[in-house]
Amino acid sequence: MKVGVISLIHEDLHPDPGDHPENAARLIGVSEYLRNSNIANDLDFMDIHDDPSEILGRVHAPEYIATVKTISENGGGGLDEDTYITPGSYKAAVNVAGAATACAGKVVEGSFQRLLLIGRPPGHHATRGRGMGFCLFNTISVAAEALVHFHNVEKIAIVDWDVHHGNGTQDIFYNRPDVLFISLHQCPLYPGTGRADETGFAEGQGYTLNIPLPIAAGGQEYMEIFENKVISCLEDFKPNIILISAGFDAHRDDPLGGLALTEQDFGWMTRKLAEVSNKYSGGRIISVVEGGYNPDANARCIYEHAKELVKS
Ligand SMILES: [Zn+2]
Repeated sequence: MKVGVISLIHEDLHPDPGDHPENAARLIGVSEYLRNSNIANDLDFMDIHDDPSEILGRVHAPEYIATVKTISENGGGGLDEDTYITPGSYKAAVNVAGAATACAGKVVEGSFQRLLLIGRPPGHHATRGRGMGFCLFNTISVAAEALVHFHNVEKIAIVDWDVHHGNGTQDIFYNRPDVLFISLHQCPLYPGTGRADETGFAEGQGYTLNIPLPIAAGGQEYMEIFENKVISCLEDFKPNIILISAGFDAHRDDPLGGLALTEQDFGWMTRKLAEVSNKYSGGRIISVVEGGYNPDANARCIYEHAKELVKS
């Protein structure tokens, strides 16, 4: 099937301060790689954007959104020791959020079943009240909330396979039963959350599944966990749509992660999720790229990921 691809790298609006792992170079070659690949004809490169302010205001605390804006307007600065804001960062982060809300609309109206958003700054560490870990606004949560709020989608599954725990996404939906959050991540590793006993709160109890993995875990471990936990959890939940927080820093060549996945592993994980989506979700998937700090590995991984979004 045709997969929509949105690329918002923001090399001008959100340049890194120098020698920072979260930089435009890590994703800038990906679109070209996809355009030159054997799936190029199955990809539709698009420029879509909605005004995300209403959804951003539901996902994040208004004071936090105002803080990001103010720091940008005042010339930029550090939100914390590793999360930078440039004069253009607020606009860049709003652009990515706006693309996420537009993706929600596209999938619901049926013009695309599958969309891949390759954007930065990344999002999954941003909690309701603060950005951290290179992330300003939580893109995947914006997509999920747009699906709920604008389109009345009742059950959304978010699968986060970035090597780091998606603490921000967990925080935003921790007490909600309509958004199932599944995270596979290296432990111990930044940000230190994501223990197996973090399973949700109040009405959201049982709708967070954390799967911490030891250093050097690879495809074999992931395959067993997918078979034994991830797929059955999704099948019990029967999501109306699957969202993927697709970080590629669990790749064996990544400089920040300590896991051992190959690009083919990201391919079969995508295939497994696509099969679940075909069974329960009308094939609908929105994938949002998160981390991944080796440019060459990112290109190969995102190609394998996109290929399975097209074919599975
Ligand atoms: Zn990461």
